[in-house]
Amino acid sequence: MDICIKKLEWFKVAVPRDQPYLGNPQPGDVITSGGCIVRATNNSIYSLKDQSLIVKATAEDGTYGWGECVTVVAPQVAEAIVEQIHSPLVIGKAAMDVVEIMETLYNAMRVRGFWGGFYMDAIAAVDMALWDLKARLLKLPLCHLLGGKYTNRLKAYVSGLPADTEEARAEMAKRWQDKGFDTVKFPVVMNVNHPEKEVASLRKKLGGDAKIMVDMHWRYTAQEAVKMIEKMDEHDLYVAEAPCNAEDIEGQAQVAASVRVNVAIGEELRTVYEYRERFLKRCMNIIQPEMGRMGVTQFWNVCQMARTFHTLVMPHGSIGIGVFLAASLHASAACSQFVMHEYQHSIVDKNLRYIRGGLKCEEGYFHLPEDIGIGVDVKEDTLERFTY
Ligand code: MG
Repeated sequence: MDICIKKLEWFKVAVPRDQPYLGNPQPGDVITSGGCIVRATNNSIYSLKDQSLIVKATAEDGTYGWGECVTVVAPQVAEAIVEQIHSPLVIGKAAMDVVEIMETLYNAMRVRGFWGGFYMDAIAAVDMALWDLKARLLKLPLCHLLGGKYTNRLKAYVSGLPADTEEARAEMAKRWQDKGFDTVKFPVVMNVNHPEKEVASLRKKLGGDAKIMVDMHWRYTAQEAVKMIEKMDEHDLYVAEAPCNAEDIEGQAQVAASVRVNVAIGEELRTVYEYRERFLKRCMNIIQPEMGRMGVTQFWNVCQMARTFHTLVMPHGSIGIGVFLAASLHASAACSQFVMHEYQHSIVDKNLRYIRGGLKCEEGYFHLPEDIGIGVDVKEDTLERFTY
């Protein structure tokens, strides 16, 4: 089959939120003139809207595929990369040759040092759209192109408990538990000085069988992180995520070697090259690849690498309308190392209205959208309202 790619289109999406990501502004947080919030507790900038870049790739016969990348801030960057660098390199290429195309895009900026960050975000959206297109041309679900699925029910964990008090967060976790979700994750920024109190409160509310995870938001030195994790583990902590600065590879390895708790990292990494040294140094026993920053090719290659290092895979689920999530579920279903998938309940459910297909999360599990391609379609007419 030598059908060619005829057209790339892209849409910047910005869906308003009732409440900012990570909850209402706290003392010390800064609202910027660009419509973003900088959190004092982790020094990170977030948009006040749910922003992503959607890419549509269309073949000569009219068949199309969808991709989406995370563009939490400055979506114009990914847009410019897709428009000025990727689109001219992709048009006219054979639609079956998705890995070769991804390598072409990656190689094009290597000598300038662009092998991650915004550049890979843009590649992620294009690569995903091309995998979806290829699967649709072959009339197969994406997971079949990745070796086939282990399951069509993917365990989900509830991520984030956006409420203002410890008690309200525990209540929220309990409501999810009553709906069949036995694993929750809270961000350490909710209680930076005494996160062990948060774990104790959740443990008391949820009972002994619940799994409690903490996202430590890259805040601590290795020594601080180890001490803090041990304190939290007095109330049985399941996973400690991102304990040290993202660049502190030795610190990550030190933490992973020092605590009994599972250590997870990786949402900020985009390629096998960024993951490689962390695998070799045993920085984690769980990785958190993010489809909306990696695309299918790199996500899948990292999953294969995880197998060779006997490391588990717990995919990250970021901000978007669910296109990247559908692709992530397909790759997860085909991944031997898969444990559970992040469920950003405050984002996923409200944004599902922009796509059609069988994507849903209920009673503790994501249901794999099993139609051809990534199994979902973007409702372009509804999208118009939130593109700019
Ligand atoms: Mg995280």
